[in-house]
Amino acid sequence: MKYTCTFLLLFFVFALGNAQNSILGFSEKSANEQQALEKAFEEKLKATNIDNWIQKMSAEPHWVGTKFGEENAKWMRDQFKSWGYDAKIETYHVLFPYPTERVLELTEPTQYKAKLTAVPVEGDPYTAQGDALLPSYNAFSTDGDVEGELVFVNYGIPKDYEELEKLGISVKGKIVIAKYQGSWRGIKPKLAAENGAIGCIIYSDPQDDGYGRGDVYPKGAFKNKTGVQRGSVMDMPTYPGDVLTPGYGATKDAKRLTKEEAPTITKIPVLPISYEDAQPLLEALEGPIAPESWRGGLPITYHIGPGKAKVHLKLKFDWQLVPAHNVIATMKGTEFPDQWVVRGNHHDAWVHGANDPVSGMVALMEEARAVGEMAKKGQKPKRTLVYCAWDAEEPGLIGSTEWVEDHKKELQEKVVAYINTDGNGRGFLGVGGSHSLQSMVSEVAGAVTDPQTKVSVKERRIARDMVNGGNDTFELYALGSGSDYTPFIQHAGIASLNLGFGGENEGGEYHTIYDTYPHYKRFKDPEFAYGVALANTAGRITLRLANADIIPLDFSAWYKTVSGYLEEIMEETAKMRTSVEKHNKLIDRNAFELALDPRENIKAPERKEPVPYLDFSPLQNVLSELKSTIDAYSSIDLHKVSKAEKEKLNALLMDAEHKLTSEDGLPRRPWFKHQIYAPGFYTGYGVKTLPGVREAIEQKNWSEAKEQISVLSGTLSNFNEHLKAIIGTVK
Ligand SMILES: [Zn+2]
Repeated sequence: MKYTCTFLLLFFVFALGNAQNSILGFSEKSANEQQALEKAFEEKLKATNIDNWIQKMSAEPHWVGTKFGEENAKWMRDQFKSWGYDAKIETYHVLFPYPTERVLELTEPTQYKAKLTAVPVEGDPYTAQGDALLPSYNAFSTDGDVEGELVFVNYGIPKDYEELEKLGISVKGKIVIAKYQGSWRGIKPKLAAENGAIGCIIYSDPQDDGYGRGDVYPKGAFKNKTGVQRGSVMDMPTYPGDVLTPGYGATKDAKRLTKEEAPTITKIPVLPISYEDAQPLLEALEGPIAPESWRGGLPITYHIGPGKAKVHLKLKFDWQLVPAHNVIATMKGTEFPDQWVVRGNHHDAWVHGANDPVSGMVALMEEARAVGEMAKKGQKPKRTLVYCAWDAEEPGLIGSTEWVEDHKKELQEKVVAYINTDGNGRGFLGVGGSHSLQSMVSEVAGAVTDPQTKVSVKERRIARDMVNGGNDTFELYALGSGSDYTPFIQHAGIASLNLGFGGENEGGEYHTIYDTYPHYKRFKDPEFAYGVALANTAGRITLRLANADIIPLDFSAWYKTVSGYLEEIMEETAKMRTSVEKHNKLIDRNAFELALDPRENIKAPERKEPVPYLDFSPLQNVLSELKSTIDAYSSIDLHKVSKAEKEKLNALLMDAEHKLTSEDGLPRRPWFKHQIYAPGFYTGYGVKTLPGVREAIEQKNWSEAKEQISVLSGTLSNFNEHLKAIIGTVK
C-alpha cells in the first residue's frame, strides 16, 4: 500500500512537472520562472479590493462628461501612480447628445402618454437618485417630431422585413415598434429608415427580458415592467468613435464634421421604452395577427398593424462636446521597452454600471495593483505594460477609438497585443480574439482555478460546452464588436482578446437604473470570486505576453479556424443556391398563390435571382500554401535560435496580425480594415468572418463577391509571405 502510494506520488510529481514546464513562447528555464511569477501574482489578488472598489466607483451615475466620471478617472490615475505606474489622463472632446425632450404618446384610437421613467425599488437606494439618473434614451438618435401609424416589426432585422413584404405590409411613412434583441439595437432604426419608416420605438418584451425569464427586480434579477435599456444607436458598423472625427483623434483643435454631415447619426428618431409603456401601444394595433415566432410575453394578442393606432414621437437633444477622460498607466519594460502589451476596460457607465463596466474595471485595477507590487520588489515585466481605463465606451467605443486613431502609427509599431475586458460575473470563462493567440489563452485557462468547482476554468468551460453538444476543445470566438477591442483589432490590425466570466449571472439590469451594487452583489458575483478569477486570467495572459522569449503566437489554430470559415461560406452559398432553386420551382407551379388563404389580402412572394457558381479556388490555393508555411514554422525549435535572431523574429511576429488587414478596408466602410473579422453591417455586434466575401454573398452582390475573393486571397498571400519571412529569420 505504502509502496503504491509513493509510486503514484512520484508519478504525479513527474507528470505535473512535465506538463507545467512547457509554456508556449518560453524556454524551459524561463517557463519555470514565469510559473513562479504567476503564482506569486495570483496570491496577491484580493476579493475585498474588488468589492470595495465596485462600491466606490458605482456610487453615482457616471456617463461621459459627468463630474463623478471625472472623479473616478482621477482616482484611478492616482491609484495607478501609487502602485508605481507612470499614469496620466488623456482627454478627447467628443460629441455627446443629452436628451432634453422625450415625448411618446398614443394619439389614436385612444390616448396614452408613455411614462418613460423607471421606478425606484425597495432595498436598493441607488435607484432612488431622482434627476441624477440619466433619462432613458438611445444615444445618437437624431432629433425629430413625427406622428404616424404604428407597425410592429418583431426584432426589426432583415428577415422580419422579408416577412412583412410577404404579408404585403409596408412601413413607409410609419413609425415602427421593435423588440430589443435579435441584433444589436442600432440595426433596428437603420433598417427601419432604409425601409422608409419615419420613427422607431424599441422595447424590452417580458418574454425575452422580463418576467418570462424569471422573477423581476427587486424580487429577482430580471427586468421589471418599468426598466428601460439605454444604449447607443450610432451606426458603428460604418465607423465607431466620435461621430465628428472619423479616422483621427478628437483633440481640442481637430477639424470636425458638422453634426449634419456626420453619417453615423440615425436618420430617424429612436426611443427605447419599457414593457409597461409598450403594452398600450401594441394593444391598440390592428391588422394581421403577428406570426407565432413574433409574439412576446404580454397578455395581449400581438397584431402587426398598421391601422387606427397612431403615435406621436418627439425627441430633442442637447448636442454638446464633452471631455472624455482616458486613464493611461504605463510600466516600462526592462528588456523591450518599445514592445507594449496593452490592457483595457472602460470606466464610463450609462447609470451606476456596477456590472457594466465597473466589475471588469476593478478586476483590471486589482490585476495592475498586484503587478505593481511585484515590480516594486524587483519583478518587473520585460515588455512595457500599458493599463487603460476608457471613457465614453457606452455611446460608441469613443474613448478607445479616439486614442487608437490619435496614436495609430505608434501603436501599430509597438503593440504586441491588446487585452480587453468589460463587465464580469459568475460562471464560465469566455474568450474571443485573434486565433493566433488561441493556444496561449488555452494554456492560461488551464492554469487558473475555477472558484466554485476547483477544476481549471478551461476544464469547466469545456465541460459546459460538451454538455451542450460542443467539442472537447477550448476555442476562441471571433470578435465582432461591442467593446473597446474594436479599434485595436479591426482598425489598427493589432492582435486582440476580449475575456470575461458569465453564464450564471443572468439578469435584466443591462443599461438600466438597476445595474447597481446591491443588484450585483445579490445576482452577479456575490463573493467577488470571479472578479479575482478575471484578474488572475487576464493578468497571466498579460504577463505571458510581456515576458515570453518568443511572442506566443500559434498559427496552426489560426489556420484551422480560418479554413473552417471558408468551408462554411462555401456551404452557405451552396445552400442558398438550393433554396432559391426550390423557391423558383414553387413559383413555376403557382404553389404560393394556391396555398394562400384567398380571403386574406396577402401577396405571393416573387421569383428570386439564381445563385451563380463562384470560384473559391484562389482562396483554397492560398490557404493550402499557408498550411505548408505554418507547418514549417511549427516544426522549428524556436528556443534554439540566437538572441539576435529572436529579436528579429519577435519584431516580425508583432506585425503578423497587421498583415491580415487591407488599407482600403471593407466595401462602403473603409474604417474597418481587418479581412478576417468584422461586425456585420446588418448584425451590428454579431461577427462576420471573412467579411468582404461573406457579406457580398449574403447581399447577393455577385460581382462584389468575386472582387472580394480576389482582395482576400491577396491579403492571405501577403500574410503567407510574411510568415515565410519569419521562418527566414531563423534558418
Ligand atoms: Zn461595457
